[in-house]
Amino acid sequence: YINPNLVLTVEDLTVSFDGFKAVDGLNLYIAPNECRVIIGPNGAGKTTVLDLICGRTKATGGRIDFKGQNLRKLREDQIVHAGVGRKFQTPSVYEDLTVFENLEISYPRGHSVFGALAFRRDAQVRARIEEIAETIFLSDLLSVKAAFLSHGQKQWLEIGMLLIQDPVLLMLDEPVAGMSVAERVKTAELLRRIVADRSVLVIEHDMKFVEDISTRVTVLHQGKLLAEGSMAKVQADPNVIEVYLGH
Ligand code: ADP
Repeated sequence: YINPNLVLTVEDLTVSFDGFKAVDGLNLYIAPNECRVIIGPNGAGKTTVLDLICGRTKATGGRIDFKGQNLRKLREDQIVHAGVGRKFQTPSVYEDLTVFENLEISYPRGHSVFGALAFRRDAQVRARIEEIAETIFLSDLLSVKAAFLSHGQKQWLEIGMLLIQDPVLLMLDEPVAGMSVAERVKTAELLRRIVADRSVLVIEHDMKFVEDISTRVTVLHQGKLLAEGSMAKVQADPNVIEVYLGH
């Protein structure tokens, strides 16, 4: 049974690397407009979960349903096309291109159009780029080369390059790593803007930031779900305390 109101239904998800289960029987349910955070110690399987959802790694068992589509049957590019965006930790923007051009080349290509239609499309693309630039705090820097942006601004630009493709689910791997305090605060605001229209799945180590985006937290440990709920709830969970503090 798949709840049609959910964006993502992951059940009994498992992957083994030479007999080692990096993800082991995981259930994960993401609702529309939800910002879910995955936390857990190094090696818990967080990155592997994102790799499995975006098709970079193939599962050995379980189910990944995204809006009625079985993602396990799709290739990585088909999963992007289905509406799953993935941002990796290191920003990969085109340094020699401007902010505008970085967004422009990320705009999804439709059918080729000519003449008046092409002109109308150009206007549409420009309007969309300006809208995205505002969302990611880069409106005033549209003509600046990406090479001159701060680390945080590059991260936002890359998020913008994904947003312009209008994903239903956006997955981010440690979005505030290496950011200044001011940039972290703005990134929390950016995530609030993003979940107004879509769902977000974030891996995060910065607990202060997790509290700021105050959302449902999934705690992974040794590939398994250890705890789930509000930050306050999982922080008080004896199993979580044991994993983070106890030896
Ligand atoms: P996290 O992101 O929580 O730090 P990972 O998902 O990166 O954890 O890794 C979980 C475990 O799976 C680690 O022990 C890691 O070494 C192992 N692992 C991840 N990918 C592979 C792979 N392609 N081949 C073999 N082992 C892997």
